[in-house]
Amino acid sequence: MKWFKNILNFLFPENCKICQRPLNKNEILVCSKCFDTLPFIKIYCLKCGNPLDETLKDYLKNDNISYCSYCEKRKLYFDKAVACFFYKSPVSNWINEVKFGKNFSLGYKLGILLKIVLKKKIPKVDLTIPLPLSSKRLRERGFNQSFLITWGFLGKKPSEKILKRIVHTKPQTELSQKERWKNVKNAFLASEVVKDKSILVIDDVMTTGATLNEAAKALKKKGARKVYVASLARSSLT
Ligand SMILES: [Zn+2]
Ligand SMILES: [Zn+2]
Repeated sequence: MKWFKNILNFLFPENCKICQRPLNKNEILVCSKCFDTLPFIKIYCLKCGNPLDETLKDYLKNDNISYCSYCEKRKLYFDKAVACFFYKSPVSNWINEVKFGKNFSLGYKLGILLKIVLKKKIPKVDLTIPLPLSSKRLRERGFNQSFLITWGFLGKKPSEKILKRIVHTKPQTELSQKERWKNVKNAFLASEVVKDKSILVIDDVMTTGATLNEAAKALKKKGARKVYVASLARSSLT
């Protein structure tokens, strides 16, 4: 009856996921007090979104820099990457709850949270789409968590036809940093509708950025003007 509980949770107000206090109408997932305790990424590279050492804050005028040692090393096809949180508790637990506990309404609400946190950092775009799974992985899992997050972000069902994952690849988590870039090569195919459009691609967790970069490459190949990528969480690069 998990689905039934999920629908009930979705329709009726719930408690803060951290302190259990009943939420106000304008609060999502957590109360405003607990919201401030979430692991926000405060200082990051404006190009690749890589979180930067917070001690740099004193040296930076705008809290951020426009490139870092990481993006200098890579050919990046996206114009900008942003992420809300570090991949840390409680955000990492929530993502697992969506992915492995099939908590669909939580996925949707995380999309709303993503919008609240990143609204000033993401430029206005023509199309917002989720990072797709391959059809094999989609069959195995039954749903795409990035689709749920994008649904919450948009407030309506996102299109799944604009970007397709045409190659089934090994899970990135099983590979080294170097292997990840090779593993996803040419894994995506974009539709012609992206020509001259600005696109936002949403994913749950970004680590090296290899997968989102390949998605951006496929979109740019079909003439996308700008490609931005946003993720709910970001694992620090080692
Ligand atoms: Zn709370
Ligand atoms: Zn960078």
